[in-house]
Amino acid sequence: MPARSSTRSAGRSSTGRSTAVEVFKFGGASLADAAAVRHAIDLILAPRPTRVVNVVSALAGVTDALLAIATAAREGDVKAVDVAVDRLHARHVAVGNEVLPNIRARTALQRELDEAFDELRMLAHGVASLRELTPRTRDFLVARGEQLSARIVVAGLVSRKAKAQYVEAAEIIQTDGVFGNAFPDLAATDRLVRARLRPLVRRKVIPVIPGFVGGGEGGALVTLGRGGSDLTATVLGRSLKAERITLWKDVPGLMTTDPRLVPTARIVPQLNVREAAELAYYGAKVLHPRALIPLTRVRVPVFVRPFADPEAPGTEISVRHTLQRYPVKALSIVRSQALITVTGNGMLGVPGIAARTFAALQQAGISVTLISQASSEHSICLCVPSERGRDAKIALERAFALELSRRELEGMDAQTGMATLAVVGLGMAGSPGIASRMFTSLSRAGVNIVAIAQGSSELNISVVIAERDAEAAARAVHDEFQLDKIGGGGVRRDDRLDVVLLGVGQIGRELLRMLPRSRRRVRPTVVGLIDRSGFVFEPDGLSPRQLASAVALKSAGKPLASLAHARKASASEAVQWIATHALARPVLVDVTADDTLPAIRKALAADMDIVLANKKPLSAPRAEVAALRALAKQHGARILHETTVGAGLPVMDSYAKLVETGDKVLRVEGCTSGTLGFLLTEIGKGRPFSDALRDAMARGYTEPDPRDDLSGMDVARKALILARLIGFDGDLTDVTVESLVPEAYRHMPVAKFKATLADQDKLWASRQAAAVKQGRALRYVLRATPRKVVVGLQAVPLSHPLAGLRGTDNQIVFTTKRYKEHPLVITGPGAGPAVTAAGVLNDILQLTPA
Ligand code: ADP
Ligand code: ASP
Ligand code: MG
Repeated sequence: MPARSSTRSAGRSSTGRSTAVEVFKFGGASLADAAAVRHAIDLILAPRPTRVVNVVSALAGVTDALLAIATAAREGDVKAVDVAVDRLHARHVAVGNEVLPNIRARTALQRELDEAFDELRMLAHGVASLRELTPRTRDFLVARGEQLSARIVVAGLVSRKAKAQYVEAAEIIQTDGVFGNAFPDLAATDRLVRARLRPLVRRKVIPVIPGFVGGGEGGALVTLGRGGSDLTATVLGRSLKAERITLWKDVPGLMTTDPRLVPTARIVPQLNVREAAELAYYGAKVLHPRALIPLTRVRVPVFVRPFADPEAPGTEISVRHTLQRYPVKALSIVRSQALITVTGNGMLGVPGIAARTFAALQQAGISVTLISQASSEHSICLCVPSERGRDAKIALERAFALELSRRELEGMDAQTGMATLAVVGLGMAGSPGIASRMFTSLSRAGVNIVAIAQGSSELNISVVIAERDAEAAARAVHDEFQLDKIGGGGVRRDDRLDVVLLGVGQIGRELLRMLPRSRRRVRPTVVGLIDRSGFVFEPDGLSPRQLASAVALKSAGKPLASLAHARKASASEAVQWIATHALARPVLVDVTADDTLPAIRKALAADMDIVLANKKPLSAPRAEVAALRALAKQHGARILHETTVGAGLPVMDSYAKLVETGDKVLRVEGCTSGTLGFLLTEIGKGRPFSDALRDAMARGYTEPDPRDDLSGMDVARKALILARLIGFDGDLTDVTVESLVPEAYRHMPVAKFKATLADQDKLWASRQAAAVKQGRALRYVLRATPRKVVVGLQAVPLSHPLAGLRGTDNQIVFTTKRYKEHPLVITGPGAGPAVTAAGVLNDILQLTPA
């Protein structure tokens, strides 16, 4: 059967066949307005190898508004119904109009919206006149939210010339028909999806399906319970054997706890599906409680990702078990609970009490969030939502009427104002003492534990506490298990400073040698090494052995990616990945000469500080540098770059001190190229240019292609960095640069250039002779004012401080309001791996607490 074989191939990612499918779900909180709907459409239409099946929630707040309309109708408040219907109608029309560019499309959508709202009004009026709202009617009313948003998204896609189609959820998701809380019939849904959805996908149609809704008995519309669109997505992902399911939400991922409750909540980069299921079941609002049940057998990874930042990885929920250092990975709090206690001697040794309790509550349609049966005592405690507390008590009294009349049970007690707190993690079963750590931390925070339950799965422990203690409890437990360290960069701790080294060349390797010798209370720990090929990373710090083998490898000219534990990645991918881990005061140290702005931006966004020896980032176009500085400010991160000019010389430091004390720098001059300094002083001694340059190359003073030094671009970048400090607002292209490479030699291969060096000796000999005749010395000089930046060859009088420079020494001269007659001169070694690495180390230490 052809349909069958193609269904199977869809599940195979490795084949790369064009029928591979993924499911997107756009959550309600994300779909706030027209801009959000357009953003969703952009995401759907972005090029990718898979075909996307889309599930949409109602626009933000619409489900609540529809439920309020239903309630007002039941109370007979027609006026409130009309006002609310009008408001909702207007909002949908406004969003539709803003999403659709042309009048015809708008009119067509508006007609659909008008019809839908007319029907809604009629129904609500009907309810109002009868003053009766059946669960069936309520579902029928509420399902409208997702039906309408799906219509809007389809219209938007079609207006962008996409072949999109609305698919009625009830026609493909068959459920058990329980109004308000239906669960899909998985086998039936598989069949319907195969028959009705799969063919659309095969024809390259983009299906859009309202979430939260399914079909009940006799074709009735039913809803899947609050948050049910998550379940729609997973059910479809399962039936389609999708590559993955992505839930686009208003949070950066699935977090260690609700970020609104605990500000230090972190993204959990990866969660095992059992952990996530448990969390959802125990009330983490981020996922529908039963969302992961469809994926128990058919294993499709689910990603919870931020709608606002589609590049960010979010959380992967899959069969993997990572982050094993964390026995507890997340916790959930559910408020507004009632604690029901059933006590009595009759419970002792009587089997089936728990089962009967459950059955009674299930029959009354009450979900139990926690149950705890103390084996040594004669009681059962269970939690139900507050508003069902009374119903639960009545249901139980009915179920145990006999025992109560015989006094085998003393009674039922319902206590409201409670909350449950559940901690979840796969590692709990294997780590003794989790429970006691949890209880100790709670009691330290002054939280009284009312009941305790250990889930049979051993994946969780739950406690019942007073609702007023919920926040304090969540924070205490979150701290106890150090969940603020699971994901995301910036944990500020006083005893650690984590270094991510970008670039393992000469300077990087020298730095690695120096770091262990630094004498601070806080010794920087190298957690990651990145080069162009990939990276190695160890959240607890790379061991001396790992570092040594990386250094040996790089010294031999081999890429990091060839190390055993390395991963291949670009620098910015590497930083992004590293940033999802727990790091203390992380700092990205860039000692490359590459275009690393993307990686630096990623680092800043993850609250990392930056230390630069690389000149490129700060000599980038001014808008980019301004954006970088703004990003740093926003994240309270620092960018230190002492070694971008004059290696280890205190150039930036001196500048900062001048400004701090109220001075104003008017002009900066100097010689900042050790390579050119060496070359020119050697020529000054009478050596031929070719001979001096070969010597410089042999000593490792030059770039692999010496023209990179001779072109003056390196000095130009330094000049620009200095000039920007004192208010120059131009770019590198505004710097006047004199190249020392004659035009004819600029584009030839390096080898040929190196072979023809002697051809330039005559030119240099005559330059040198002319200088000597004037009593001057040749220097390659930078000059920067707030208005003008020039770098080039100059013959300076022998009395000038620059003439006295020897070898690779650098000199920077600040002329300021105070140092006008006698400028401030900084001189010293300004090149070479050792002094540069020392300068970098100094910057790193600036970031550690003393
Ligand atoms: P959707 O828009 O897809 O329906 P929800 O609003 O249902 O998304 O879920 C996201 C919300 O869940 C967040 O705004 C957050 O406040 C809440 N939340 C509760 N617990 C967590 C958690 N552990 N991780 C992330 N978000 C959580
Ligand atoms: N709109 C529904 C709700 O608010 C379903 C969902 O968004 O997942 O519960
Ligand atoms: Mg939801």
